Amino acid sequence: MSADWPTRLAERAAARRAAGLWRLRRTRVEGSAPRDFAGNDYLGLARDPRLAEAMAAGARRFGAGARASHLVSGHLEVHEALEHRLAELTGRPRALLFSTGYMANLGTLQALGEADTRLFQDRLNHASLLDGATLAKCASRRFHHRDLDDLERLLTRAPAESPRLVVSDGVFSMDGDVADIAGLAATTHRHGAWLMVDDAHGLGVLGDQGDGCVGRAHGVEAVPVLVGTLGKALGTGGAFVAGSEALIEHLIQFARPYVYTTAQPPGVAAATLAALDILAAEPERRERLRTLIARFRAAATGLGLPLMDSPTPIQPLVLGDGQRVLAWAARLAERGLAVGAIREPTVPHGKARLRITLSAAHSDADLDALLDALAECRAKDAGQPQEIAP
Ligand SMILES: *Cc1c(COP(=O)(O)O)cnc(C)c1O
Repeated sequence: MSADWPTRLAERAAARRAAGLWRLRRTRVEGSAPRDFAGNDYLGLARDPRLAEAMAAGARRFGAGARASHLVSGHLEVHEALEHRLAELTGRPRALLFSTGYMANLGTLQALGEADTRLFQDRLNHASLLDGATLAKCASRRFHHRDLDDLERLLTRAPAESPRLVVSDGVFSMDGDVADIAGLAATTHRHGAWLMVDDAHGLGVLGDQGDGCVGRAHGVEAVPVLVGTLGKALGTGGAFVAGSEALIEHLIQFARPYVYTTAQPPGVAAATLAALDILAAEPERRERLRTLIARFRAAATGLGLPLMDSPTPIQPLVLGDGQRVLAWAARLAERGLAVGAIREPTVPHGKARLRITLSAAHSDADLDALLDALAECRAKDAGQPQEIAP
C-alpha cells in the first residue's frame, strides 16, 4: 500500500472493485422506484402528512435547529416531552435522546465499557455495536448467533470481579430473526451481568403496543439497557436509550457521543411525538404488516425461494453469491421494485442476499408485483437451482 494519498486511494478502490464489492450509491428520484421493498419504514409513517405537518410546526415554534448540545442550551421542552413518551412506551423510568442509533450505541458502550469491563456480543450484532466495542476501552468477545450455551461458556470463564455487559440486537437487521430476550435475561441474571438490547427493528413493530421485542414485556430488571431508534418504524430519525435513572445520568455525564454533539432538530422530535400518537391510535398498521408478512412467506415458500426463519418485516432471500444478488436486484429494479442487495462485508462471505422489507404502506398489488418478479428471477435461475442456499 502506497504512502502517497492519491495512489493509496486508487489502490484501495481498485482492490474493492476487483473483489466485486464496489458499493454504488444511487440518488432516489421521487417516483422512480414506486415500489420500495428496501427501506425500514415498516408502518408507512415516513411519508405520513401528519408527521410532515408536526415537523413544520415544531420548526416554526422552536427553530429549525436546536442551536447547541443538550448540556449547553439545546435541550428543549419538545426533547424533554419526547423522552418522557419514550420512557412510557418502553416501560422504563427514563429515556435519553441521541441524534442517531449509531451514536446511541457508540455512546452507551463507550460510557459503560471501562478498562475492567467485559463485553459479550452476538456475532451478528449491528455494525454500530461492534464499532462501539472498539470505542470502549475494554475486552470484547463475540458469542455464536443466538447461542445461549456459547454465551454461558464465555460468561463462566470471565473473571467474576469484572462488570460484564451482554449485548444483542433485538431483531437482527440482516436476518430478521428475533433474539431470545427471556433466555438472554435469565443467563445474564445468573451471572450478575447486565443485558443491553438494541431494538432498532422491533420498536413500533413487535410487542402488544408496538413497544418492541423488549418493551413492557421485559422490564428494566431483565433488560437494564434498552436502545431504540426512531428512523425505522417511527419514520423520523434519531434514537434513544431507556433504563434506570442511574443509567441515564451516567450517560449524560460520560457518553461522549451524547455530550459533544448538537441536539436533534426540534422539528424531528415534534414529528416523532406525532408518530407515537399514530402508533397508539392505529394498531391496524401493525395488523396489516403481520398480514403482509404471512402472505409473503406463504407465497415465497410456494415459489421455492430461500426464505430465512424470520417472523418480522425483514425477509431476506439468501442467494449466496454477490453477483447473483446484483442480477436479481437489477431485474427487480427494471420492474420498478427496489430491494436491498446485501453483500460482504455487511454479511459473511457466501451469504449475500436480497434484503426484502415489508411495510404497512404496501398494497396487495405491490406485493403481487414483487412476487411475480421474484418468480421470474427464480425461473431464469432454473438451470442452477443447486446454487440456492438452503
Ligand atoms: C439502523 C440500526 C442502527 C443505527 O440507527 P441509525 O439511527 O440509523 O443510526 C443501530 N442498530 C441497529 C440494529 C440498526 O438496524
